[in-house]
Amino acid sequence: MQLIEQVVELSAALQVERAAGRRVGLVPTMGALHAGHQSLIERAASECDLVAVTVFVNPLQFDEIGDLAAYPRTLAADVAMADAAGASVVFAPPVAEMYPGHPAPPATTVHVAGLTDRLEGSSRPGHFDGVATVVTKLLAMAGPCRAYFGEKDFQQLGVVRQLVRDLCLPVEVVGCATVREPDGLALSSRNSRLSPDERRAATVLHRALQAGAASVDAGERRAGQVRAAMASELGREPLVTVDYAEVVDPRSLEPVDEIVGEVRLLLAAAVGPVRLIDNLAAVRPAAGDVPAGRADDDTVADAERIGV
Ligand code: AMP
Repeated sequence: MQLIEQVVELSAALQVERAAGRRVGLVPTMGALHAGHQSLIERAASECDLVAVTVFVNPLQFDEIGDLAAYPRTLAADVAMADAAGASVVFAPPVAEMYPGHPAPPATTVHVAGLTDRLEGSSRPGHFDGVATVVTKLLAMAGPCRAYFGEKDFQQLGVVRQLVRDLCLPVEVVGCATVREPDGLALSSRNSRLSPDERRAATVLHRALQAGAASVDAGERRAGQVRAAMASELGREPLVTVDYAEVVDPRSLEPVDEIVGEVRLLLAAAVGPVRLIDNLAAVRPAAGDVPAGRADDDTVADAERIGV
């Protein structure tokens, strides 16, 4: 396991690997690694000859200075976990290495239009410019053939796919399923900042997604009803303040009115001082597959049962 801090050193080390015909996999992270990150590294190790994990708390993607300051930093444990999961390189650069001149903003940044206008983009101004810029830089430095990202950050995954397409970057983006705690809470580095009460309350995010998905799976076609089902579930938890609970097209991330086929349920909420996001796929069965006796009128009764 090599721990690298300098950009030139990373590029040189991985250039040697590529020249020897080895497939490089890249797993970008902000550290405080947990089993979700571990699953990405293990998948990369199973599909590539060499895995580089990046650990960089990217100041450009934080819209709140307090959130950046409070972000957990656990490099020694991260290196051990990356090593155990099959990584060969951990790249953990200082901020000045990634952004010479910081805190002055870099002259060149990457903006992905459209996809970033909504959801996290509107709640966190500048966030996705920071993500797109750092991911583009990391891909340029490492030159991987595959880069691994979690569906946990579903909009981010869409933004990365879009920038790779638009900039013709020679890398395959691999999306990986969300790893959850046994009670459904999606693993997140931010979970460590939850108090015991907040940690218990945070499980409502997954329950809300499940309530929304259950109504879609049962044939609900009105996205408004599904949003209401999620909001109602979230409303049961006084420690939780909802930012958004949305039903969107899984590719464009545009809000949907009428559900046909697959949608993505996305939500963001503050649990005490910690902002969490989560999402789930849901598929409305084709008309002929909706269970007998479940006409559209039934969905009103369904929504009532769910608690709208
Ligand atoms: P982060 O360190 O939070 O920036 O995350 C680094 C990568 O790990 C991103 O691609 C995330 O989507 C992914 N990730 C974070 N949490 C999870 C999780 N619970 N399951 C799967 N992937 C995750």
